[in-house]
Amino acid sequence: MATRVWDYLPEYDVERDDLIDAVETVFQSGQLVLGESVRAFEAEFAAYHGARHCTGVDNGTNALKLGLQALGVGGGDEVITVSNTAAPTVVAIDGVGATPVFADVHRDTYLMDVEQVEAAITPRTRCLLPVHLYGQCVDMAPLERLAEKYDLVILEDCAQAHGARHHGRVAGSMGRAAAFSFYPTKVLGAYGDGGATITSDDVVDANLRRLRYYGMEQTYYVVRTPGHNSRLDEVQAEILRRKLTRLDAYIAGRRAVAERYERALGDTELVLPATAEGNEHVYYVYVVRHPRRDEIIEALRAYDIHLNISYPWPVHTMTGFAHLGYRPGSLPVTEELAGQIFSLPMYPSLPVEVQEKVIAALREVL
Ligand SMILES: *Cc1c(COP(=O)(O)O)cnc(C)c1O
Repeated sequence: MATRVWDYLPEYDVERDDLIDAVETVFQSGQLVLGESVRAFEAEFAAYHGARHCTGVDNGTNALKLGLQALGVGGGDEVITVSNTAAPTVVAIDGVGATPVFADVHRDTYLMDVEQVEAAITPRTRCLLPVHLYGQCVDMAPLERLAEKYDLVILEDCAQAHGARHHGRVAGSMGRAAAFSFYPTKVLGAYGDGGATITSDDVVDANLRRLRYYGMEQTYYVVRTPGHNSRLDEVQAEILRRKLTRLDAYIAGRRAVAERYERALGDTELVLPATAEGNEHVYYVYVVRHPRRDEIIEALRAYDIHLNISYPWPVHTMTGFAHLGYRPGSLPVTEELAGQIFSLPMYPSLPVEVQEKVIAALREVL
């Protein structure tokens, strides 16, 4: 059978009864939209992060968009983030009418180089948007100092970092607000689309709730500005409630996969993931680096192993973002990495024999 970087079927095989029961629970509940499961999941997800509030939304991109709007970020504002991210991070910033501004990343962790952020701040900067990429957190203390000094808000993109910790603090508890995706591949994944924005700011939370519900506080009445229809689905919320109780086990499973890769590949020319000081990595993806990346991926196809690249094109080089005016060469580390990085299979239910097959094939190819 073909080997891919991600597969949910081994997990479904184990969790099937619980997931079917989740669906049945919602179907029997008599309330299919914004019911008890969404309310309970929001309370439980907020509690996991020590946050006061959580608003469930329809996907991670809208969790970011509504997060930005709830923080008052919009047309004319600049938001500093990275180009080495999933394009949706930048789609969301562009989607609220703000202008994304990119800092380059660290060569070893692939995360935002916070030392470059201050130089990117202008009088129009409103928001810092760190992306906790691949499963570990951006260095937050210097960003928090900049936010304080220049009166900026921090919105964390936690779509790849459920349960990751940074000097003991959990991802999502460090900004004014934080956006999560529950796309099926994520560390906490639904069986379809889902997302959430968490905050401990009561005003920001009230904004979020209104924005996901057409702009209404009360049914049939749009109060301040028109919002969106961005509700988290009730069935997905009940599935997520069940899976949230297993989040720490999923993370432990991912770490066990990462440790096996480290033991088996540590002596090769592959550059394995580096964990920054103070971080507890959750390995959303297991990103390695090699100058002959394309040859390696091609050679592995002969073993029916199909790897992935997160991400092959830096966002600022995409034609869809030409209007931002970045030229090739403007973010040298991001651009160099994009030609060398690739991802090995990583999910908690990855069968050991499949991982061993990947390791053996990789060692032969290298
Ligand atoms: C997945 C992801 C998103 C978008 O989430 P969706 O649920 O797919 O809309 C945003 N940012 C990052 C870093 C992501 O990995």
